[in-house]
Amino acid sequence: MNKLEKLAFRIGEISNEIKKLKDQREINLEHCHGSEDEDFNGPSTNSDNVPFENCLYNAYEWVKADRESDDETYFSYTAFADVINDYGCANCKGAYLAKREIGLLKQERGRVVGNISTIGKSLKG
Ligand SMILES: [Zn+2]
Repeated sequence: MNKLEKLAFRIGEISNEIKKLKDQREINLEHCHGSEDEDFNGPSTNSDNVPFENCLYNAYEWVKADRESDDETYFSYTAFADVINDYGCANCKGAYLAKREIGLLKQERGRVVGNISTIGKSLKG
């Protein structure tokens, strides 16, 4: 394979990996079995009457509420990751990791596309 073919091949691989991770994430989210910590599972609906869905959703609500009580304007993804790791069930942790991996793969795909584009420009003229 030449350089261009290798890059195209990698894009195909990345797409397959993303698809696999998305499927896995969906299965994980469908099988949330709740936290071992009852406080974390909280009420069955939030303040907007939205039903409890899974640990990722609960973690989001927790961090959001915490942020509001501290009067902070930004959402802390570090705090979110900590909450998931400390309180989430195994399936939701898996779903969270899959999402992070998907993010990294998309970044890599962006770089590969950039490389292909650079080669394309060098072919001009
Ligand atoms: Zn869960």
